[in-house]
Parts: sequence; C-alpha cells; structure tokens
Amino acid sequence: MTTVDRRTLLAGSAGLLLAACGGGSSDPKKTKGPNIVKPNAGTVVTAEDTAVIRKKLNAAVEARDIDQLLGVIDADDFALDDVRAWWTRRFDNFSRLDFITSEWYVGLPSGRTRNAAGGQVEYDGDLVFAHTVDGCDGQQVVETYRASFRKKSEDAPLELMHIGDPSERYLPAFWDVAKIDAIETKHAYIAFRTKDAARAKAYRDRIEKGAARAFSTMPRPKGVGKIFYALTWPEIDGRLYGGVAVGDADAHEYPHRFVDPAKLAAGQEKPTSEAGLPKATGRVGLHEASFRRSDFVEVAAHEGIHVLADQWNDGGDIAIWAIEGLATWGQAGSSTLMSRDGGRIRSFFRTFEKRALKEWKEFHEGGHEYEMYACAGAVYAYLEHDGGKGAVHKAAEAFYGASSREDAARKFGRSEKDLFAATRKWLGA
Ligand SMILES: [Zn+2]
Repeated sequence: MTTVDRRTLLAGSAGLLLAACGGGSSDPKKTKGPNIVKPNAGTVVTAEDTAVIRKKLNAAVEARDIDQLLGVIDADDFALDDVRAWWTRRFDNFSRLDFITSEWYVGLPSGRTRNAAGGQVEYDGDLVFAHTVDGCDGQQVVETYRASFRKKSEDAPLELMHIGDPSERYLPAFWDVAKIDAIETKHAYIAFRTKDAARAKAYRDRIEKGAARAFSTMPRPKGVGKIFYALTWPEIDGRLYGGVAVGDADAHEYPHRFVDPAKLAAGQEKPTSEAGLPKATGRVGLHEASFRRSDFVEVAAHEGIHVLADQWNDGGDIAIWAIEGLATWGQAGSSTLMSRDGGRIRSFFRTFEKRALKEWKEFHEGGHEYEMYACAGAVYAYLEHDGGKGAVHKAAEAFYGASSREDAARKFGRSEKDLFAATRKWLGA
C-alpha cells in the first residue's frame, strides 16, 4: 500500500466514525480525544443470527415434522394455517419421493436494517427453499417465500415472524398439487397422483425408452443421469412451475434456471456460474392427451431433450425454432425425420424460413405447426449431415447460451438466414 492510499483510507475511516456517532457536533474540530465507536454498535442482524433460524428450519424439514417447522415461526402469525397446509402436503409427498434432498437458506438483510440506538429491528426478505431431485438436477433448484423477521434488541435472538406466499415465479411444483408417488427407472423418475399409478406403471417402459433416447442424443450434463416426468391432468396442464407454458400442448417442459440460493436469500438473483455445471434443469409434464398418441416414446424423448438442452440455458432470448428443432431432430433421429417427413419439409421450408425468423407467436400460430416443427428439425438434420452430432450440439449450445438472437449468430458464426438457406440447398427445396 502506498502512503497516499493509506492516508486516503485513514481519512475515509475517520469520516465513517464521525458519521456513526450521530447527533452531536457537526464540527469535527470539537471532537475531543480518541473517539472509539464499535462499528457494529446497536441492533444488527448477524450471520450467526440467520444461521440459527436456518438450522431450525432445516432440522424441521429433515425430520419432516410440521409442528417443528411451525415452531420456528412466531406463534401469532396469521398465515400459520397456510404454512401448515402447504408443508403438511409436502412432507407427506417427500416421504414417498425420497430422492429429493432440500435445504433452506436465510439471508442477511442489507445494511439499512441496523438500529444504532439498540432498539428493535424489523425487516422483510425472501426465504429460499432449495432442492435437488437426485440425478436430475446438477445444481439446486430454488423457490422463494416472502418472510418477515424481527430482532428485539442487540442481544435478542432473530425471530421469524411470518412465512408468506410462495413466489409464483418458481411454483407450484408437482408435489404441491396432489398426493403423489413416483417410480424410478434407469433414466427417469416418473411421478404421478396415487390414483394414476396404474397408468404410470403401464407407460413406465415407454417413458424410460424416451428418456434413454434423449440421453443418447444429447451430451450428458454433469451430475445428471435421469429426467423427471410428471403425469399431469387438465386442471394443472401448463400451470406448474410458475405457469410458463400454454395449456393446449400434449406435453410440456418447464425449465428451472439455476440461481445461487444464498445470494437469492440476500435479495440478489444471480445465476450460479461454476464452470462445467449445467445452467438450468427442467421437468416434464406429460398431459393426459400424450398417452393417446401412437408416437408416445417420441413425445417422452422430445421433452427429455428440452430438459437436457437446458444445461446451456443462460436465460437469454432463445429462438423458438432452435429449441423445438433440436427436440424434433432428436426425438426419432435424422433418418426417421427425413424419411417420414422429407416431402412435407421440402414443400413447406420456404414458409418456415420466413416464420422462424420471427417470434414465438409466428412459429406456433398461423397453422402448419407440424411442418414448422419438422422443418426446424431438418435444420439440425442438415447440421448433423454436415458435421455430425458434435455440430448439432455446438449450434444448440450457441443458441441456448446467447443473450439475444444477434448474439447467437455471433456465437454460432453464421446468421439464422444463412443457416436456413444452406439447409434449403441441402434439402433441394
Ligand atoms: Zn417441444
């Protein structure tokens, strides 16, 4: 450290000390003698305080003990009945879904919550509950609950006064909407209402086959060897995990982007950025209509590919054709796609090019959805023909990891327009 730096630092510290005194003289010349002020004077919430609450919450979840959980919250909180209902169902389901591991995060509030006079501090923040479906999620999946905290005095313990509603951005999860159970296969967890157990068993081999196909098609994200499938029903189709999807498809994939749970509990939504780990995961909802489809294995594979592709999902604006094309390419493989749908692809491709360059609405609406998917799949079939599966994965990673479609073109090294034109040439369309 240079002298100048040191002097600046000392001057800065002095200023802080004076400011911390509060009141008194505004003229620093009148200060007599060394002015010793503990930097942490007054009531302040410490990491030790939040750790105590976190430990109690985690002990309750580990024991799956609803009374123990409610015992952590202020006994007069008006929302206790809601908390009881929500967590009673969860603990019941978690007791059957023993492949879920979970933990709470309690963050430190930002600095403004100090009470220098030593009186009460109250503040609102988010409680974060993080879980992993073992083998499905390379990192923890987060959800948040609005919460209120209080510390009565400098030496009093931190109290959890209220747990409020869960944020709709992350919830409800499948285990929040019914009594559920699950079957494990080599590449899948198949979760279902207990009343749908017979259907789950009847389709388990086909779901496993679809999941296995997804894994054979895609690079395996670190820590991932299974895909989570849920058998949904009309009332919840498209409404799970934050309701991100529309309700009229036969199946859905619901992405969960990995966010640092500790930072989220402190009020900052930061993506976790550890190299080599997947950036997001997903869950599949198989609607009742999917079970009537003759290509059910392909549906399971298609959605599974969406889940595995989320390993690259950086939360940017991903072209919808790039998402659906990848899954359509992989659900049956290039040769099946081209032998089955080659004619339709060739005759529709020029229309596809125009619509695919636009947005979600133009891709999905306006008819010929089947052809739109097939043509998008053909773009990846062209890439595979040209450079093997590695070229497909490289392209998908560029599209998924880009912040915008322009950024995707930069990352991929060619524009969507050029790629479509090259595919058209290959198709002879
Ligand atoms: Zn899809």
